[in-house]
Amino acid sequence: MSTTAAHCDGCGTPLAGADHARCRARRAATDPPRYCAACGRKLVVQVLPAGWTARCVRCGEAGVAAR
Ligand SMILES: [Zn+2]
Ligand SMILES: [Zn+2]
Repeated sequence: MSTTAAHCDGCGTPLAGADHARCRARRAATDPPRYCAACGRKLVVQVLPAGWTARCVRCGEAGVAAR
């Protein structure tokens, strides 16, 4: 992925100046991201039997995971 993570993908706020340890802990538990890390928009997340896909309406593909 070539996106630069400027926003938290768990809560959508800028990474700088905030503690996102809880968001990261959530994400570590194979949770799909909720917000685009590049622009902070809400992602369109599809949970599939085999994993999930996340899409940003502005940036496109934001992540894919397979279980
Ligand atoms: Zn966060
Ligand atoms: Zn985006």
